[in-house]
Amino acid sequence: MLEQPGTMKNIAILGSTGSIGRNSLEVLKQYPEKFRVLSLAAYSNARLLLRQIEEFHPAVAVLIDENAAGRIRSSVPAGTTLLAGQDALVDAVSHDDVDVVISAFVGFAGLQPTITAIKSGKDIALANKEILVVAGEIVTQLAREHDVRLMPVDSEHSAILQCLTGEARKAVRRLILTASGGPFVGKSREELAHVTIKDALNHPNWSMGNKITIDSATLMNKGLEIIEAHWLFDIPPADIDVVVHPQSIIHSMVEFVDGSVKAQLGVPDMKLPILYALTWPERFTSSFPRLDFSMPRDLTFREPDLETFRCLSLAREALEQGGTVPAALNAANEIAVEAFLSGTITFLDIPELIGECMQQHQNHQQPGIEDIFAADEESRQVAQQLIERNRRVTMTV
Ligand code: NAD
Ligand code: MG
Repeated sequence: MLEQPGTMKNIAILGSTGSIGRNSLEVLKQYPEKFRVLSLAAYSNARLLLRQIEEFHPAVAVLIDENAAGRIRSSVPAGTTLLAGQDALVDAVSHDDVDVVISAFVGFAGLQPTITAIKSGKDIALANKEILVVAGEIVTQLAREHDVRLMPVDSEHSAILQCLTGEARKAVRRLILTASGGPFVGKSREELAHVTIKDALNHPNWSMGNKITIDSATLMNKGLEIIEAHWLFDIPPADIDVVVHPQSIIHSMVEFVDGSVKAQLGVPDMKLPILYALTWPERFTSSFPRLDFSMPRDLTFREPDLETFRCLSLAREALEQGGTVPAALNAANEIAVEAFLSGTITFLDIPELIGECMQQHQNHQQPGIEDIFAADEESRQVAQQLIERNRRVTMTV
């Protein structure tokens, strides 16, 4: 086996009980000489967090839900301090010994603790794309000020980083994000009118948390990823394209000024991008699943259907408008996805609701962090009111 380069890194995971969090622990477990789990944080899944504490012996563990923490407090082994509540996240991320924070909460909830981590000088392995969607300018600026690395975990952005490494910025013509298209690729609006929650959660290639799985089905995920790519790589929105590639083998591409295109390929498995975010610019030898080229296989590409999957255009529009509009889009999307998952609105209501919230939003250019929080809060309220009104109208009819 090849020697793994680098020294021991202490890792904090925000969202250890989620899909990315569990995959991250799988990765860390493979390299006990290289990574130590220093802290774990989750929302309310106390049973799973307790199992993770027993296996990884973190110094600090946090459950945001205080009642959930109460249920496991007496079972937590000596050596781990269990803390509860939102404020305790500060201890999880800014502990002196933490080197890297894997930011894998879902949605806006990850913004504040990730900012705290950056201000404490911790490198970030970023899965939580919503953070860059709502506050890309502020977060990337803070990372520069605190000399902190923002390493992408998202598979497309990891692919782009792998294609860009060793290349000059001026040699880049455009980024090409690949999209699987989700479970409804090729479907018409009429066909989408009656899809169920189960249909939408049935992603053909990736196993992920519910929110991102619905975002993949609406193509909002790819819209959020355009915004994420813009901030991570400082590429103008017009030079970030999307191509639908249903096999999810090519994770993204970069076209250069001479016409050459570099692509990164791999099986659809988040362990590789997670590992790369922790080891860049090195590569560690791994035993993760690999592509098998002995099997015949087609790789296909097509343009996204922007008429049917409106969320992609809404996200682009939010990026172009800038200011607090992306925060309003993100908040409306979080509420819309929740409402769809609880059976309150239909699949096609999702873009309608987001579009309406964006229209009602009063944009703040050059926002400070408090403007981002205000835009998030206000857009959530508008979305809730629209859903409530819609529900009353439907009930009356
Ligand atoms: P998930 O739903 O599986 O897990 C979310 C984690 O966040 C859990 O640990 C949960 O305890 C915690 N959490 C949930 N609500 C919270 C709240 N209100 N406050 C604080 N913590 C909360 O989600 P996931 O699929 O692991 O996705 C995490 C992030 O990574 C998302 O931003 C997603 O877009 C991104 N991402 C995920 C994948 C993937 O393969 N799952 C791929 C690329 C990017
Ligand atoms: Mg992705």
